[in-house]
Amino acid sequence: MSEAQRRLLLERIRDVPDHPKPGVVFKDITPLLADPVALAVVTDTLAAICRRHGATKVAGLEARGFILAAPAAVRAGIGFIPVRKAGKLPGATLGQSYELEYGTAEIELHAEDLGPSDRVLVIDDVLATGGTAEASLRLIRRTGADIAGLAVLMELGFLAGRERLDPALGTAPLEVL
Ligand code: AMP
Repeated sequence: MSEAQRRLLLERIRDVPDHPKPGVVFKDITPLLADPVALAVVTDTLAAICRRHGATKVAGLEARGFILAAPAAVRAGIGFIPVRKAGKLPGATLGQSYELEYGTAEIELHAEDLGPSDRVLVIDDVLATGGTAEASLRLIRRTGADIAGLAVLMELGFLAGRERLDPALGTAPLEVL
């Protein structure tokens, strides 16, 4: 990605203070999605990351990860796996729970979608505390699949998600656009 393209992406991510609750600065990617040039830059960059790391599948994390991951999968010529909040998928699922600030959450995938022959690139919009991404990596590894990497548009460095992810990532790379 060129410097001009990186600048364009930064310009198209809107900071929304105090959303969804006071004290949180929400990183809104809808201006980026609405701009066909910025959307193409993201799609092409993610597809290039898939190729570079030999991914055979792309996993998108609900919900904004879906929007970024599905076109990247098409562009890379590989399949897309939705990692969903618990209770949404109709088939036989594998689930992984993880700690939130208050309480726990659980994510699921269709167990039949992944297996030992797969290498999965996981995609989300924002890496915050790293809890969701960490649970996804652990869940995907439990199918027998390998992790090709984790790619996010942005990292909120002050939340130290990267450190939390380290054991789950192992030697797989973290790519921040
Ligand atoms: P995490 O704390 O890393 O598990 O973040 C969980 C999810 O919340 C990610 O999938 C992000 O899409 C979303 N998220 C967390 N913090 C923000 C933020 N400041 N702006 C936008 N999305 C966020």
